[in-house]
Amino acid sequence: MNAPPLPAEVHHRLATAEGVLFDIDGCLVLFGQTPHDSIALPGAAAAITALRASGRAVAAFTNASAKTPAGIAAALHELGIPLDEHEILTPAAVAAEVITSRYADRPVLAFGGPGLLDVLHARGTALLDEDADPTDAAAVVVGWDTNFHRDRLQRAAEALWNGAELLTTSDAPSFASRGRPTAGVSGFIAHGLAHVTGAQVEILGKPSPTAMEMAARKLGVDHGKLLVVGDDLTLEIRMALAAGATAVLTTTGTHSATDAAAAPRATRPDLVVDGLPELLALWPEVDEADGGGL
Ligand SMILES: [Mg+2]
Repeated sequence: MNAPPLPAEVHHRLATAEGVLFDIDGCLVLFGQTPHDSIALPGAAAAITALRASGRAVAAFTNASAKTPAGIAAALHELGIPLDEHEILTPAAVAAEVITSRYADRPVLAFGGPGLLDVLHARGTALLDEDADPTDAAAVVVGWDTNFHRDRLQRAAEALWNGAELLTTSDAPSFASRGRPTAGVSGFIAHGLAHVTGAQVEILGKPSPTAMEMAARKLGVDHGKLLVVGDDLTLEIRMALAAGATAVLTTTGTHSATDAAAAPRATRPDLVVDGLPELLALWPEVDEADGGGL
């Protein structure tokens, strides 16, 4: 690794960071089309282990809403990544909190897989039944719904025409996966609904301030002492910079060092690394040996 010397400010931020929030896809792992195709990215397990051993709080935030946090943790464990269910944040948790605080007991119309619907259900969110009047919905919540057919479109549109707010777990156009990017389903549906109804899309996951707030709370760390590591300038990097956290781009997924250099200030990371081994090697007072070797 021929990294240039670390600027003093970045060195200080790494040394004094009290918590680290990792992205998952393109940062810790590349999921394949099947579980057998999935891989852990180099240094992912070691970085988590070493940072934990250094006394720092560690968690991961994915914009994915297909799987529950338990399902994601299980998939990560299969790849040797030591993160547990309680250390996985998804936009579904943000959705549950936003819906409760904003709409109280008014029901919402939610579209998604278990990663959204099961989480909302478990948290007691009032969900409209399939056959209920859609105009009763306070909001339409869109996640990774791979069965979003015409009837659902019509119900969602009727809710939105009647004044429901339009929330989505993520509007990322794509995310990093093994061999090729995966096209984003949630944003595709949400922006399609915006097109047909004129509603504004509100994003619950990264880079929303609400997502950042929840992550900082989860880690028990102030924004200024939090490091956010991810592969997407428009998601992790934008979110971290807006909150005054330290933004680290790893070039193992969506965006490259060239993209970072050309990025406007709001999405230009504090540090660019070519992978988590480089990040760990640069980190003052973090013992790489605690990561079990790299
Ligand atoms: Mg990513």
